[in-house]
Amino acid sequence: MQREDLIFVGICDLAGLVRGKAFPARESASRMRRGVGFTHSNIMMSAFGPIYATPFGTEGDLMLVPDESAKVQVPFDDGSSERFFLGDLRTTDGAYWECCPRHFLRRALDALQEAAGLNIRAAFEQEFVYTGVEDRPGATYALDLFRRQRGFGEALMAAIRQAGASPDSFLPEYGPRQFEVTVAPATGIRAADEAVIVREMARAVAFRLGHRAIFAPMLTPQGIGNGTHIHFSLTDASGAQATHDPARPYGLSSVGESFAAGVLHHMPALAAITAPSVASYFRLTPNRWAPTWTNLGEHDRGASLRVCPVFAPESAEDAAAQFNLEYRVCDAAASPYMALGALVFAGTDGIRRGFELPPRPGKNFWEMSEPEREAVGARMLPRSLGEALGLLSATPQAKEWFGDRFLDAYLMFKRSEIAALDGLDDAAICTRYAEVY
Ligand code: GLU
Ligand code: MG
Repeated sequence: MQREDLIFVGICDLAGLVRGKAFPARESASRMRRGVGFTHSNIMMSAFGPIYATPFGTEGDLMLVPDESAKVQVPFDDGSSERFFLGDLRTTDGAYWECCPRHFLRRALDALQEAAGLNIRAAFEQEFVYTGVEDRPGATYALDLFRRQRGFGEALMAAIRQAGASPDSFLPEYGPRQFEVTVAPATGIRAADEAVIVREMARAVAFRLGHRAIFAPMLTPQGIGNGTHIHFSLTDASGAQATHDPARPYGLSSVGESFAAGVLHHMPALAAITAPSVASYFRLTPNRWAPTWTNLGEHDRGASLRVCPVFAPESAEDAAAQFNLEYRVCDAAASPYMALGALVFAGTDGIRRGFELPPRPGKNFWEMSEPEREAVGARMLPRSLGEALGLLSATPQAKEWFGDRFLDAYLMFKRSEIAALDGLDDAAICTRYAEVY
């Protein structure tokens, strides 16, 4: 049997899934320009497959064009390989399409650049459940669990490195069969590309071993959540840290403070983009090390926005280089492009409007009553995807971030996902997402 080399080009779409088409490798030259044909309604393919609703109908053509900077070519022991590009959805005359998720992030980065002359450096910390290991009591963070999955972890790290990202750590996490993988930060669109690539490498390695890496936010309604945490800092034109000032509250520079305040201000609405599945809201509940309020916390993993620690800095420059914030209201049902784009748009709004943070509370956040938390400016995160979507549609800035057409399409897309799960109980809802992610 003869085989012809195929290369896939995909976009991590509104469902947070990588979808696209493959072309013969020998046609690469022309495909780098024209990509593969796509249609507008393809962006409305739900997490579960069907297009439940679409404002675009059956008409129209787009191009899904590979980006040379997002090329993955990773060989495996069995002789197979992962060969794909991530790319952009463009109109047939080559312009970026207004509803392209990757372009949403590009536009957000342009807005940040225009408002403050800054860029963002980010790293996604991703949790998932690996099915290739037995669930045993006491395995949490255990050397023995790591030992049993060393093969998977090492193959995953190698694949990530070969795909062009820098692996940072791999660990057996808190939940049953749960693992976490982190990579070094990257700048701008590349950070989101790498988040997509890391997920796909975990799935690719698990597949070669006959198993799955499941990134669904919750596998059971009462279980331990899989978060996708976004670590970030702003950088100036020279690539230097712009978020840190050790002399100011929380160690945040003035622009860093405004950015953080913008993120906190918009956070309940951002949840509709960064925690965008029905099951995401089973995760955002108390006692799960997942966020429940719009609060900034120093070194507090219960906070939705965390000022991360700086470890044994060798110098002030080293401390500045390490300093970062972590956005925790995110999971893998979100396209990293949409999630990082939403974060950047919200923070940029804070910079533009000169937002400030409320004074640092004099008391531990978790020792405060709910009215006390509200008095220091915190709000409860939405309790459901429907509530979050309502908040997003009521956010005037969202129209500017998305554009009218894209916002309407996004709201329609997510509301049809809720409708598709109508009548299922919470356990069945988790199962539906676990089949997909
Ligand atoms: N699993 C937690 C979540 O759902 C996070 C645990 C941690 O801090 O790493 O976000
Ligand atoms: Mg973790």
